[in-house]
Parts: sequence; C-alpha cells; structure tokens
Amino acid sequence: MIGGERDGTAQTLENLLRRFRKYQFWGGLMFRIRILLLIMVLCISVSANAATKAIKFGKLWDGHKVINNAVVVVENDKIVSVTPNGRVPAGAEVIDLSRFTGIPGMIDAHTHVTYYWDGKPGTTPRTRPEKPHHVAVTVVLSQENGMKALQAGVTTLRDLNANGGADYALRDLINMGKLVGPRLFVSGGGLRSYKGQPGVTDPIGEAVKMVNTRLDEGSDWIKVFGSMGGFENVKGDQTVSYEEMKAMVDATHARGHKIAIHSYGPEGARDAIRAGTDTLEHATDMDDATIAEMVREGIWYVPTIDHNQYYVENADDVYHFAPGSKENLQDYIRRNFATATKAFKAGAKLLVGSDAVYNGFGLNMRELTWFVKMGMTNEQALQTATVNQAEMLGMEKSLGSVAPGFFADIVAVEGDPLADINVVVNNVRWVMKGGAVVVDKTKPVSKSN
Ligand SMILES: [Zn+2]
Repeated sequence: MIGGERDGTAQTLENLLRRFRKYQFWGGLMFRIRILLLIMVLCISVSANAATKAIKFGKLWDGHKVINNAVVVVENDKIVSVTPNGRVPAGAEVIDLSRFTGIPGMIDAHTHVTYYWDGKPGTTPRTRPEKPHHVAVTVVLSQENGMKALQAGVTTLRDLNANGGADYALRDLINMGKLVGPRLFVSGGGLRSYKGQPGVTDPIGEAVKMVNTRLDEGSDWIKVFGSMGGFENVKGDQTVSYEEMKAMVDATHARGHKIAIHSYGPEGARDAIRAGTDTLEHATDMDDATIAEMVREGIWYVPTIDHNQYYVENADDVYHFAPGSKENLQDYIRRNFATATKAFKAGAKLLVGSDAVYNGFGLNMRELTWFVKMGMTNEQALQTATVNQAEMLGMEKSLGSVAPGFFADIVAVEGDPLADINVVVNNVRWVMKGGAVVVDKTKPVSKSN
C-alpha cells in the first residue's frame, strides 16, 4: 500500500509534469502568439497614429514670413517640417490646399465661451432662466461657441470669467480629446473688490485668498474686474483699489501665473499698470503717462474695440438695451479706438480680444479691421492674433506659428490676408487643430434645387 501509494504518487507527479509540459508548450505558444498579435496591433496603431499628413499651400504665412508652395508635414499633433517646394514623405496623406493661403491657428485673448444663448424667440442673452442651468449643461452648450470660434479660424482662446468651473471642465475635456473645441486658457470666476462685503474685515487679505482659491481650483490666469463697464454699461468707475490690485498681482506672480485686469475707465487702467498687471483689458481714455508706463513695462493691451460695435449691432433686436445705450456705446467706441490708436503709435503691444459672448462667437477676428484702420500693416495685425498672443500666453515655443515642433494649429483662408485683412475675418475655409481637421469648407457645397 505504501509502495503502491508511492508509485501512485510518482505516477501522479509524472502525469502532472507531463500535463505541465504540455501546458507549457501550448501556453508558451499561445503566449508567443499573443505577444506577436500585440506587436502587430501596436505596429498598426502606431502607424495609424503617426499617419503623416502633408499639407500643400500655394502660399503660407508662418507668423513671420511668406513661403511659396509650402509643404507642411504634420505627425500626430505636431508640425515636423515646413519647406518651400518640399517633398511629400512616402505614405503621407496629402491635403492639397494649394489654392488657399495658410496661416497659423489664430488666438483670441479675451472671450467668454461659457456665455451661451440659444436664440429662443422672446428671450435675450441676458434673460435669466427660471432655474439656472447645471454647470454640466453649461459645459455641453458652450461647445457651440467653441465650434464657432474654430470655424472662424481661432484655435486658442484665453477665456476670462465663467461660473461654477464650467471653463475648467470644458478646457479639460477638450484637452482629453473627449470634446472638440479650441485650446483654452481660463481664469474661472473673475475677482472683484471685497471691500464692504459681509464678513470681510481685511479686503486685501481676502483678495489674496481669492487669488489662491482660483489657482487651487485650476485657473491658468487670474481675471480682475477693476472697474465698472460691460454690456450697455460704459461707466468706467474704478471699483478695485490700487492696493488690492497690487496684492492680487503679487499673489498671482508668486504662484507663477499671470493676471488680466479689466478696466473700462482711465483710473483703473492707471492703477492696473502701476500694479504690474500682465494684460490690460478695454481701458479707454488712458493718459499719456499711463500709456508710456505700459510701453516701458511691456504690458499687453487688449482694447476690445469691436465688442461694443457688436453690442451696437445687437442693441435693439437681441439685447433690447435701454434707449440711449447705443449712443453711449458709439461714443465709447470712438474713445476706445482713439486710445488704442494713441497707444499703438506710442509703441504699445496690442492683442486681439473679441470679448465674444453669446451670438458674438464667430466674429472673433473683426477686431483686426480696427487694428489695420489705426495704422498697423496687415502683417502686424496678423501677429496680434498669432505670434504675439503666444508670447503673452508664454507658449511662444508651441503656438502661434507654423513651424517645426509647434502644435499643428493651421488655418486655410481664401485670398491673401497680407493684401486684405477681411480675408481672415470672412474667408476661413479649413482649420486644423493639433493635427486634426476640425473645419473643412473646401469641398464644393451641393445645392438643392
Ligand atoms: Zn470680457
């Protein structure tokens, strides 16, 4: 029994070993096959991801100069080469846009992408719904504004004021590739003065706390409403003191971020410049000393002239502004344009900011027509929407130019924007963002009879 048991045990062991070897053989084979399959799948997906695109332009303005018969080679989300009469790499997908002019994806320095209005009759953009939208609803609706910006050739927005974190969510979902939209640099909710607010005994301490709260929440930028002014209200009375502005600027810079200060009027602008803001928004009637300091400090100026023209055009039918608002807006536009012109002539660095809201999305680049009117060359104007914007964002090595190593944010326009600036306002035909074609109006539209 004992021997038999031993034999039995040996037999069982032998059986087990045999089975194990068999298993090892088949298992090993299966394992090898699986690895082989995995490698094949990886190869296929890598070559699919790395699908090289070669885009041909009759003319390309890369942000600095014109390249004739340019071939732009794109791999994944980046540009790998830009060459005149360039060779198309073997196996590359050719996108022939040779009848168009290529320009870098444009950047808008001042938008409100989460301000959504569906245009329902009997409502205005400012009609408060009975129950405010859940923030998730706002995020989904905001995509429409983002798409309109993309269709206008705008691939990046700096968005300055949103409620409930809708801008953070939209930015993150776009970056994750879950939603299609422009690249976003966002501020979360804009900050105001905390003087006289219930429970606030130290308004400067509160201002610093609010800056840190915004940055903790995920803001790229800090936005401050330094004065009154917005929509039909063109009063520029300063609301945030110099001391508060200075504290907010310092707190933002201490965390390695940048700050934008809104001021409709001259006093708020003066204090924003003195406090060392990175960008100044709106700012009409600035005095010469303030303009000189802005130039000296290299502070970016976003005059947003066209947004009040948009309000004038929509005052009656869309917004139903109070009587007299249009005249006030027109007067503000005149002064805004005069101030911006003076600043430009003094050497200030201007940027396109549409201040787009609601049905204003898609008109983002109309500001360029004002810039040309004030004396910029078309190329200078285009740079206020591309390379200079990238510098303001601190992204001058990856955005704003069609150049190797940059994100493949590229726009095709019909016509020559260096001869007629309206070409970038009205004739955008094709848009690539991060290597993906997001707008294509190059195909002939079939008309129904
Ligand atoms: Zn604004």
